[in-house]
Amino acid sequence: MNVTIIGSINMDLTVTTDRVPDQGETVLGKKFATYPGGKGANQAVASARLGADVHMIGAVGHDPFGTDLKAHLLNEGVDVTHVSTIQEASTGTATIIVCDNDNRIIVAPGANAYVTPEYMKGCEALLKESDMLLVQLEIPIETVEWIAGFARAHHIPLIVNPAPIQPLPESIVEGASFFTPNEREAESLQVKEEKLITTLGAQGVSFTVNGNKKIVEGFSVEVRDTTGAGDTFNGALATLLASGSGLEEACLKANVAAALSVQKEGAQGGMPTLEEVEAFIRRRST
Ligand code: ADP
Repeated sequence: MNVTIIGSINMDLTVTTDRVPDQGETVLGKKFATYPGGKGANQAVASARLGADVHMIGAVGHDPFGTDLKAHLLNEGVDVTHVSTIQEASTGTATIIVCDNDNRIIVAPGANAYVTPEYMKGCEALLKESDMLLVQLEIPIETVEWIAGFARAHHIPLIVNPAPIQPLPESIVEGASFFTPNEREAESLQVKEEKLITTLGAQGVSFTVNGNKKIVEGFSVEVRDTTGAGDTFNGALATLLASGSGLEEACLKANVAAALSVQKEGAQGGMPTLEEVEAFIRRRST
């Protein structure tokens, strides 16, 4: 099955410090590390690890981060034919200051802003061959509107992960098959109950089948890093729904995939394969 993911590709620049500098001040930090990130790219990697043929639509800048990130996606088995390199832009970055087990983040979208409706028109052939589309809100909202219109016109299922949350135009509300907010994002999202799949952190995930609200409970696991838990859930969900799983089974397995992912460091660190998800379910049910 073909899953096409349209979204951001970033390099996460993480620095740990005991104290955040004041205005005009310099402090000496501790560990610095770079991690491949961006919700789009994270979800593409999660989807590919679960076994889908994943095609990424996005953009990077003409710089070493861009080269590295494209190579990384390719290495994860993601098709990057539709990831373009923008000469005049820098690759998207998230500068993350970690202090007291909490973080402050500055995102510079860079090349991600070049994923425009115009750019999408060059990807129509790929979109038409897709069994499932997945998009987040780290690219221009007009592009998400265009995708929702296209998905509706061509009867292609579309999952919208409404993160970071922002008001959604009616065309997106109508055109998407599912929305996957976390609890905080769900508070300000006005969509039909049957389109809602809400992730509840350690509590699992809730969704509605035939008018009945259901909850798949979270799994109690040893938590190392919850960064990217939602991205793992979304990528896994897209693969499972595209491969014909019902909503309940897809939510159950995506919930397992996300629980496995929080046991390792980095957004993409613990994203499991389908075999690992199924082995976990077998272990827990015996
Ligand atoms: P986000 O990462 O977008 O804020 P959530 O915090 O709701 O989203 O997490 C997404 C999913 O990741 C949850 O539905 C659950 O499956 C899994 N998850 C997150 N945190 C935990 C945790 N502490 N223990 C087990 N599973 C978790």
